[in-house]
Amino acid sequence: MALIVQKYGGSSVADATSIKRVAKRVAEAKRAGHDVVVVVSAMGDTTDELIDLAQQVTPLPPQREMDILLTAGERISMSLLAMAIHNLGVEAKSFTGQQAGVITDEAYGKARIIDVTPSRIRQTLAQGSVAIVAGFQGVNPTTNDVTTLGRGGSDTTAVALAASLMADVCEIYTDVDGVFTADPRIVPNARKLDRVSYDEMLELAASGAKVLVLRCVEYARRYGVPIHVRSSFTTHTGTLVTDQPAAEGEIVEQPIIAGVAHDRSEAKITVVGVPDVPGKAARIFQVVAGAGVNIDMIVQNVSVAATGLTDISFTLPATDGAAGTAALTEHQPDIGFASLQYDDTIGKLSLIGAGMKSHPGVSAKLFAALADAGINIEMISTSEIRISVVTRADSLDEAVRAVHTAFELDSTEDEAVVYGGTGR
Ligand code: ADP
Ligand code: ASP
Ligand code: MG
Repeated sequence: MALIVQKYGGSSVADATSIKRVAKRVAEAKRAGHDVVVVVSAMGDTTDELIDLAQQVTPLPPQREMDILLTAGERISMSLLAMAIHNLGVEAKSFTGQQAGVITDEAYGKARIIDVTPSRIRQTLAQGSVAIVAGFQGVNPTTNDVTTLGRGGSDTTAVALAASLMADVCEIYTDVDGVFTADPRIVPNARKLDRVSYDEMLELAASGAKVLVLRCVEYARRYGVPIHVRSSFTTHTGTLVTDQPAAEGEIVEQPIIAGVAHDRSEAKITVVGVPDVPGKAARIFQVVAGAGVNIDMIVQNVSVAATGLTDISFTLPATDGAAGTAALTEHQPDIGFASLQYDDTIGKLSLIGAGMKSHPGVSAKLFAALADAGINIEMISTSEIRISVVTRADSLDEAVRAVHTAFELDSTEDEAVVYGGTGR
């Protein structure tokens, strides 16, 4: 008998029929003798719809109210799922994040979990019931207000509960069969990975592969929680995210490349005509950081000798575009740049693989694949196990497919299946 944490994403509980299908799965695990804790997301695109609704009421919703609004989505799915499980003759009780003991800091909309005290969940399991927990939410103990963990945060709830309960595994059920070498919505012949290391999964998630949210992978690595990403629509084995070898003492040869990720959520700001003297870059990025904006890539042009001026470009989340631009404009007189250019029609492609540390020629092959496809590279950045490039947004899909093929990642077997979801 094991303690299993299962998480079902929005596309797996999109309507009543899906909720009943998930309930059957949960009941089967319970009847097989396991202790089962289930974390659920809001139904389908509920969270997006609630955000749209708030925008219709006011352009600037107060963050506290926004979090109260968004936590409602998961309360609907958790109670409906508990009812559906009950209907199958299995005891089940649902809990909000607060009731489940998910304690966070005070940052509305992007709260971090600081502690998990799941005594009510333990009690429920001890009584022989299934415990259902609303994902993506917690409580700030200072104000007693509910908080949300940021988009995709139910994955983090699941891993945090699995760590705290010392679960045997955390199963993340979604609308594809696991983690693939690229998003199957863009590359139909992407290949499913049987295993992937925490480091590679971290880079994939940080680079836009939203099948797992970045924070949940950070959490899993810190506490050594094995994650099994799989489909709620089939019984296929999915992808194991772990650093454990497949079998005791087994040495598996690492493929050089784990996959290709893409991200359309960033924008680029170019600060034009910056005096090329020490301290200007520091000022620019102090101002941007002061506005609470995280930046990603940075490129500085060679300065034009005659003018002593240079351009500095950087990327940031498009949702922070207005804040970043406003902060820089306010400080234009003291920084002394000529103008700002804002571009939100960019895309980012990232190639990830632990093997690139020890294999020369990976960048050369990446750039050649993009050149052959006629795709221009605007910015480049690297880590030990990742190379990222910025392209035009409308050539990103083509770029991903070209790179996937160039690195021989295309599957020769059946096409990857996307079972549900709207891709929103
Ligand atoms: P859920 O609602 O279950 O949380 P998400 O939409 O957050 O599901 O994540 C699943 C989606 O992630 C898939 O439908 C797929 O389009 C996307 N995705 C992006 N990159 C990958 C990848 N490398 N492997 C698998 N899925 C990916
Ligand atoms: N419902 C939330 C979202 O759509 C959390 C999640 O699904 O993980 O972002
Ligand atoms: Mg998700």
